[in-house]
Amino acid sequence: METRRPARQLHPAAACELTSRGRRHPEPAHAYRSAFQRDRDRVLHSSAFRRLVYKTQVFINHEGDLYRTRLTHSLEVAQVARTVAASLGIDEVLTEAICLAHDLGHTPFGHAGQDALDHCMKRWGGFEHNLQSLRVVDELEERYAQFPGLNLTYETREGILKHCSKRHARGLGDLGERFLRRRQPGLEAQLANIADEIAWSHHDLDDGLRAGLITVEELAEVRLFRDHDRPARGGRARLSRRVRIHAAVRAMLDHVVTDLIGASRARLERSSPASIEAVRAQARPLIGLSPPVAAAHQQLKVFLRQHLYRHERVLARNRRAQALLQALFECFMNDVRAMPREHADRALAWERDQGENGRARAVADYIAGMTDRYAAAAYRRLVDPGLDW
Ligand code: MG
Repeated sequence: METRRPARQLHPAAACELTSRGRRHPEPAHAYRSAFQRDRDRVLHSSAFRRLVYKTQVFINHEGDLYRTRLTHSLEVAQVARTVAASLGIDEVLTEAICLAHDLGHTPFGHAGQDALDHCMKRWGGFEHNLQSLRVVDELEERYAQFPGLNLTYETREGILKHCSKRHARGLGDLGERFLRRRQPGLEAQLANIADEIAWSHHDLDDGLRAGLITVEELAEVRLFRDHDRPARGGRARLSRRVRIHAAVRAMLDHVVTDLIGASRARLERSSPASIEAVRAQARPLIGLSPPVAAAHQQLKVFLRQHLYRHERVLARNRRAQALLQALFECFMNDVRAMPREHADRALAWERDQGENGRARAVADYIAGMTDRYAAAAYRRLVDPGLDW
């Protein structure tokens, strides 16, 4: 019979509404929702969140209905992270809010799209999808009369900004400080970060197998798979390939998540931070895998890089996606009126204020917000009606 473990007490270093560094624009408390619940709900209701359903994780949406998209990726990250948060006694709702928001700034066509846009923006400050996620919640979502963006709490914004170049960190005030001083964010942010890696490595493996780009035989070199494939079959010699893959991936995920909980708990006990500020003052993260499981997980990620992300079929598709985004970027830079009115007006206004930088940033914001199919439709309309995507 399934039995539920009793809920643990909240850890003293968990994020807490009472010690929150607050919102950029102060707001009165809600009658029955906590600040972090409101953050999560604002992310969920944002238009950037809905667009994630048509943004590539690894496989383009039309390549098959069963592959992960940015949306299902974000939900799987939240699922992994919430399990761990509940077990460690850190704030589950804040963790969920960060996970759901972490990829809001992703371009169409996955990492290929991000690299293409970064390349296009080289002369104008570059493009970082992580920074863009923050930009979406801070500036680009238009939902409130009183302020731009979603006005999320500091803790959620801190979690969204996982990486940041020093150059950009200098312009971010409080939020950028930890990248300059090499300090850590709160526990919920640390957890969302590692849950992202655990979720994508396992679901991309599953999708890669489904697509036939990697094989079970090749996976024999991956320790995590080798260790879990046979026991997961439970002594059954004749299992369908599908059940075998699901059983192995599920056992791997369970093993890695269980290790994450155990190793993080041990670190928390050793360093016993008394508050979120004590966590932020540390040089190294407290939430993370044990060294042996981290090494095994790293081996899985390297395998995926070599066999899946650099598979000729994926690379060929990425090259097309990059050429497509580059053509769109040039098209809008040459004629901002080729964008919808509000984006064109913004580009012209920012150009008046900031010169060409402003125009380029408005174009990058517009392109980054596109879904895969919206980008393909724009390309057909403006560049080549014969595009067969
Ligand atoms: Mg992610």
